[in-house]
Amino acid sequence: MLLIRHAEVDGEDGVDVRCSNGEVTQIAARLTGNPGETVIDAEGGALLPGLHDHHIHLFSLAAARQSVLCGPPAVTDMGTLGKILGQQGGDGWIRGIGYHESVGGMLQRSQLDAIVPTRPLRIQHRSGKMWFVNSTAAGILKLDQHRDLEGVECDENNLPTGRLFRMDGWLHEQLGQEPLPDIGSASKLLAAFGVTGITESTPTNSAATQALYSQLIEDRQLLQRVRLMGDETLTVSEQPLLECGQVKILLDDYALPEFERLQQRISSAHQQGRSVAIHCVTEAELVFALSACKGAGHMQGDRIEHAAMTTDDCMQLVQSSGMTVVTQPILIAERGDQYLLDIDASHHDCLYRCRAFLEAGVPLGAGSDAPFGNADPWLSMTAAVNRLTAAGRLVGAQERLTPEQALRLFTSSADDPGGPGRSVSVAAAADFCLLDRSWQDARSRLRREDVLATIRAGEVIYHR
Ligand SMILES: [Zn+2]
Repeated sequence: MLLIRHAEVDGEDGVDVRCSNGEVTQIAARLTGNPGETVIDAEGGALLPGLHDHHIHLFSLAAARQSVLCGPPAVTDMGTLGKILGQQGGDGWIRGIGYHESVGGMLQRSQLDAIVPTRPLRIQHRSGKMWFVNSTAAGILKLDQHRDLEGVECDENNLPTGRLFRMDGWLHEQLGQEPLPDIGSASKLLAAFGVTGITESTPTNSAATQALYSQLIEDRQLLQRVRLMGDETLTVSEQPLLECGQVKILLDDYALPEFERLQQRISSAHQQGRSVAIHCVTEAELVFALSACKGAGHMQGDRIEHAAMTTDDCMQLVQSSGMTVVTQPILIAERGDQYLLDIDASHHDCLYRCRAFLEAGVPLGAGSDAPFGNADPWLSMTAAVNRLTAAGRLVGAQERLTPEQALRLFTSSADDPGGPGRSVSVAAAADFCLLDRSWQDARSRLRREDVLATIRAGEVIYHR
């Protein structure tokens, strides 16, 4: 049992909240403590519903924390990249992340061999779409024997260039012996942000991943509730903190699937009682996905992930589709300056829109897309409110949200982002983010440092 005293709940001061068996059981101005009950004095701090990151890649986040950042802002040229990689201690694989072609174009293995000649090296493009490997890595992966695989790029002499497209699942299989990244510390980090739940959005998540997540939760390494998206093999889990999510479908506008096949895949998912979540970054991907969804018929829970580029015409399509959008305001802060360079000025106002979706009545939730965006949801909220890039430039001023709207992006339920927000009320799950100050004080800062404690299912998973 847990008693939180003197909290601010929905703007009301001095509220006591009691939880047992994972739920809120009593809310009153003053509750008498029970023997053996854990008591937290909120001292007037705001008690918010626990934050839910609606789109994250937890294993990649954990791996990224053990990887080398190979792109902007830390690395902007090949000289710096070589220096940083050359300084890596230890032996065995070097795993780089966050590469962008502004550093030195699309990488080839010969370029990487010049930097790291003897250790196996793999570097992920920051889009998550491709990996670049050096020759030592190519040897370990036996790329020569896998030249026929779709995704292994070869040059005019039919030699692998070291570029691997959308091959995460295969890479994972090839590197099967690698130790698991440290999920426990990644989960603790999220808990310190006030995150009590995540939607794991990796398309290659399978029944095997589901079993692993179940184990990680049972071993208490993983502290958050998990909604697991993935392929068609996922099933209902017996672990109460693990729920089966959407069938996740990736689209790449340079290699779109056959329209009928996509439509068929959506229909089959629906027949199995699974809604779908479709990755759409470009306008072409969005239009394609919405058309396929229209043909397959709508199911409650169907989602568009990212909707990074939504023109006014597309906005109408999204609105009439009935689909939910899960967006990433954090990428305005972290990648906005590059977007302003790469994308035609006429489209700058169409990037990661927020207010326009709300005004169109489209249910809108947000996720960090970590490790591609910073996992701190307070940074996402700040970006949704101020729409400022790292260099301080404004992107889509009319898309700004209020702090309350920004918070709502992370407090709707896992199965209904943008739906009715979760609340601190009797019989609700005891998932909270407790701040050390009133919401009135916190709303102008939106900082992770203000999180005093995080409670999931009535259990304290973080306390400062
Ligand atoms: Zn993602």
